[in-house]
Amino acid sequence: MEAPGPAGGPDRRRRSPWVREEALVLAQDQGGPDWFRLLLRAPRIAPLAWPGQFLQVAVRPVATGLPGPAGAPDLAGSDPLLPRPLSICTLDPEGGSLSVVYRVAGRGTALLASARPGERLALLGPLGLSFPDPGGAASRPLHLVGGGLGIPPLACAAAWARAGGRRPQALLGARGAAGLAGAAEVAACGAPVQAVTEDGSAGVRGLVTDVLRERLAPGDEVWSCGPPAMLAAVQRLCAAQGAEAWLCVERAMACGFGVCLGCAVARSDGGGFLRACVDGPVFRAGDVDVAEPRR
Ligand SMILES: Cc1cc2nc3c(=O)[nH]c(=O)nc-3n(C[C@H](O)[C@H](O)[C@H](O)COP(=O)(O)OP(=O)(O)OC[C@H]3O[C@@H](n4cnc5c(N)ncnc54)[C@H](O)[C@@H]3O)c2cc1C
Repeated sequence: MEAPGPAGGPDRRRRSPWVREEALVLAQDQGGPDWFRLLLRAPRIAPLAWPGQFLQVAVRPVATGLPGPAGAPDLAGSDPLLPRPLSICTLDPEGGSLSVVYRVAGRGTALLASARPGERLALLGPLGLSFPDPGGAASRPLHLVGGGLGIPPLACAAAWARAGGRRPQALLGARGAAGLAGAAEVAACGAPVQAVTEDGSAGVRGLVTDVLRERLAPGDEVWSCGPPAMLAAVQRLCAAQGAEAWLCVERAMACGFGVCLGCAVARSDGGGFLRACVDGPVFRAGDVDVAEPRR
């Protein structure tokens, strides 16, 4: 389903109907000191999903129905109450599976890291708007620019772009080599990867935006996901070069479907706010002010 176009031109992002599904954990492995890959069988959600969309993941396996300690009802499955939003990293619609790559940031993701194959996790998704449909000008350069935990959604984005006839190039940055979570997936999905690390432990030393500045030409297209400062730099570079940019803004959120208003992103025209969960997380760069809101 095509999303309605925002002011300022045609919109190629997609929205899906979302469903609840108890997904089967197929595999989980630790990819780095603080991050994991989780492969899930989700035959209802996977065929509906588009790259850039995300899932709300209940971090504890679905309750077994067995009584808890001292015969009390097992309420563990509802603590923590809120699911955690995670971007889809790889996607196999025909096979009915998908993966997420996540960093252990706090209690929820620490619990998720203990999920084992054979257990089931409750998912809601696919949520939000995708990256834009990549079809069209095959020769138009497409740069995938990811930073830290913004890298994972660029894997299925690369595969989608390739399927649409594009030849995406990925610039993936982190403080050091261990932080390049999802970079192997991006490469496996068909985008040549240039790693850029602040400490020089992998690829080129520096910031992804240093390398993007050298590569970017007027009329190019950029899909980017990462921390707010990086997105703001990508936004500025693309505006200066006359390149089209789409930014995936992973603002902290509670509900994921437009009700709680926790993920407000300021509109660049000063006309109020958009919600990262339903008006994004992928936005046209010119439509939003990606700086974190003051708390
Ligand atoms: C649409 C979307 C997609 C996301 N995709 C991924 C992904 O693919 N991989 C991944 O590792 N993470 C992703 N995140 C971030 C992830 O949801 C949080 O790291 C997670 O919810 C933290 O939960 P927790 O209980 O472990 O930590 P908490 O105890 O809830 O928080 C730990 C710390 O992380 C901070 N935090 C929580 N959410 C965010 C956020 N969105 N951005 C920056 N800081 C945050 C908190 O303020 C706190 O300081 C995504 C977020 C959104 C909104």
